[in-house]
Amino acid sequence: MSSDHSRVSLEQVEQQIHDISTVLADKSRRLRFPKHWEKEYLEARDQRFIDVDLKVIVGGFLVYVLFGWADFMLGGSSGASIFAARAMITAVLLLGLFALPKTPWHALIVPVTAVGIALVGLSIIVFSFFLEGSSRYAYHLGLIPVQVFAMVSLRLSYRAMLVSSVMVFGVYVATIPFAGSFFDSEVDQILSVMMPLFVLFWLLLIVMGAFLAYAIENAGRSDFLKNRLLALEAQRLHYLTERLHHLSTTDPLTGLANRRHFESCFDEEWRRALRQQHSLALLMVDVDHFKQYNDRYGHQQGDDCLIAVTECLASYCRRAGDVCARFGGEEFIMLFPDMDLTDASILADEIRQRIQELGIVHEDNEVSVVTVSIGVAAGVVQSHQHPEELVRCADRLLYDAKESGRNQVKTGLMH
Ligand code: GH3
Ligand code: MG
Ligand code: MG
Repeated sequence: MSSDHSRVSLEQVEQQIHDISTVLADKSRRLRFPKHWEKEYLEARDQRFIDVDLKVIVGGFLVYVLFGWADFMLGGSSGASIFAARAMITAVLLLGLFALPKTPWHALIVPVTAVGIALVGLSIIVFSFFLEGSSRYAYHLGLIPVQVFAMVSLRLSYRAMLVSSVMVFGVYVATIPFAGSFFDSEVDQILSVMMPLFVLFWLLLIVMGAFLAYAIENAGRSDFLKNRLLALEAQRLHYLTERLHHLSTTDPLTGLANRRHFESCFDEEWRRALRQQHSLALLMVDVDHFKQYNDRYGHQQGDDCLIAVTECLASYCRRAGDVCARFGGEEFIMLFPDMDLTDASILADEIRQRIQELGIVHEDNEVSVVTVSIGVAAGVVQSHQHPEELVRCADRLLYDAKESGRNQVKTGLMH
């Protein structure tokens, strides 16, 4: 049962390993994963964003509000109103960013932050319109730290970084014609040269920032896939080891423990019985006239018969330490720790009856259905004895049962 379950899982793991390897090999697919990975990747990225980047962003917004001193210094009569607007924007943004991760819309944290940063940039453009003369130009310089801030804090998503930057840049460029001339002629002269340069440098900053964010996001996504791959490889190894263990300890036809596995369990139980001075009972079970069964009904039906017998035998191994194993061919061995000869004999006879009651037709057997003969050996383990002796004893008793006419139980104390 458990091997079936692990096989399904192993196939799924191998499919995922294959899918991830394909995406890793195909660079064009790295920035947009298939749906389920995209969701997982974004969840992991957002978590990192909330844990680390949000602190930096909160710091940035506080710097923004600290720049309020410029409102009073340069804003003249509008200074107080501009500062009030600035403080309000900061309060709304901080509140929003703290609250959002706790709401059902937490997946929007990066886009909302991008819009928030754009809002900061746009506010500087708007504020500058309320200022007079060269103060307005000084205000424009504030857009550069905002741009750098956008590059740093939105580096995990190049799309968010680009949208936020281009929004502010676009509005700035669009409002240049409305800026008018407000400096004295000498300053105007210098600024007519400086303004295009300012725009050009800003644009360059955006291009460099986008390139950087693109490279960072690409590396982040690739790391995400490689980590997934490593985890899946480890899982695969675990499944393969489990399967290998199962194969090396189980008989493939019946699903019972194989002889090797029985021997290691027997060894352990033997030592435990010796320590605790408990009795160990061993049953050797052999199907009667099974060669004839095979000859008459075919090998396939012979296999089915063995499986039916197996299920019946295994149903008697209920306690921890009980073992039922295929000893070879149509011969089974059953170990019952802490059981004396009397109980083992009663149990063996019950098993013999139950097999007969299965009613598997066997024309060449004395009672016309499949039966088994059982040799039962039991005894309190002594330190001078060897596990082999119990097996030999049960085997001899099985031989006696066969000799005495089959479909019977022969019992004896280990000696
Ligand atoms: P006895 O009552 O003395 O035990 O006679 P028997 O015919 O059962 O014993 P024998 O050892 O002569 O024959 C055992 C047969 O079991 C021979 C073999 O064809 C059959 N057998 C062994 N393993 C398998 C198996 O995995 N599947 C099938 N179908 N038959 C098997
Ligand atoms: Mg047999
Ligand atoms: Mg046999």
